[in-house]
Amino acid sequence: LVSAEAGADGEERVIEAALRPKRLDEFIGQHRVREQLSLVLHSALRRGRPPDHVLLSGGPGLGKTTLAMIIAAELGKPLRVSSGPAIERAGDLAAVLSTLSEGEVLFLDEIHRMARPAEEMLYMAMEDFRVDVVVGKGPGATAIPLDIAPFTLVGATTRAGMLPGPLRDRFGFVAHMDFYEPAELEVIIRRSARLLDVRIEDEGAAEIAGRSRGTPRIANRLLRRVRDYAEVRADGVITRDLARAALTLYEVDERGLDRLDRAVLRSLLRKFGGGPVGLSTLAVSVGEEPETVEVVAEPFLVRQGLLARTPRGRIATPAAWRHMGLTPPPSAPM
Ligand code: ATP
Repeated sequence: LVSAEAGADGEERVIEAALRPKRLDEFIGQHRVREQLSLVLHSALRRGRPPDHVLLSGGPGLGKTTLAMIIAAELGKPLRVSSGPAIERAGDLAAVLSTLSEGEVLFLDEIHRMARPAEEMLYMAMEDFRVDVVVGKGPGATAIPLDIAPFTLVGATTRAGMLPGPLRDRFGFVAHMDFYEPAELEVIIRRSARLLDVRIEDEGAAEIAGRSRGTPRIANRLLRRVRDYAEVRADGVITRDLARAALTLYEVDERGLDRLDRAVLRSLLRKFGGGPVGLSTLAVSVGEEPETVEVVAEPFLVRQGLLARTPRGRIATPAAWRHMGLTPPPSAPM
């Protein structure tokens, strides 16, 4: 799968782990976040206390997991990894919290998808390093207070807006991770190529970077697909022309739109005359979940000026018609 539709799986996870920067100064791009985080961590280290809880918000594949690992490494503390969907009941969270060691970093991915009762337990844990474990049911139920070791929570979310206010407010530091510039992605691609022992020319890296949709995970993924092509169809060196030919074959266009992006645009233009159309209708028309269209495809299409979100629904911009090589009907929104 070349697109960003899914997160990492199988072999990709293994390679991702190998490509992950281990320390803050190896982390490329996101200068502001890096600088702010560096201050938060260093001042905590100086005070000898765990830093404030950190919320990382940003689209898939921008490096949230990587940063969580880096935070633990910089603090010299172990990292515990879990996720919102894995915590179905308050008891699941209590089990994790009560076994944390002093200063441990707890990474909760997709924190916006945690069950409500667990969320309430988390408020108290974040603030007072204490939880109430309820034993028994009905009128005889009792809450047993349980102290937990001071820890640092690193929450990650693709949807900061969906976090309830009380939870968001308990994070002392919120980092908004933005898409990467092509120049930053080029550096990431050259670094990954070095680690994977792949020969790549600067123009080859630039070509891949330009089609990576501002996302390191996609950059690394495209690099591996182009490498396959280079090994099988050429002498293994990634040049600009080779990168172009390979990415055309994998249906990644010159602006970095992949299959899903193009399907969304095509449907918006052809089936709905350029909109406005509601998100769920649009999602059904391309056979995807609304969340996938909203989180994975739309931010990039909006950023590219190809799609706009309006109160009446999604509309295509004139640039979208041009990019897809279609002529807008006379009534299309301009
Ligand atoms: P998701 O939320 O979908 O799991 P994520 O935001 O946690 O995604 P990561 O898993 O941290 O993303 O990053 C994906 C890949 O991109 C990793 O292989 C990582 O090495 C690489 N990567 C991310 N950010 C950077 C960066 N700033 N510099 C170098 N490589 C990066």
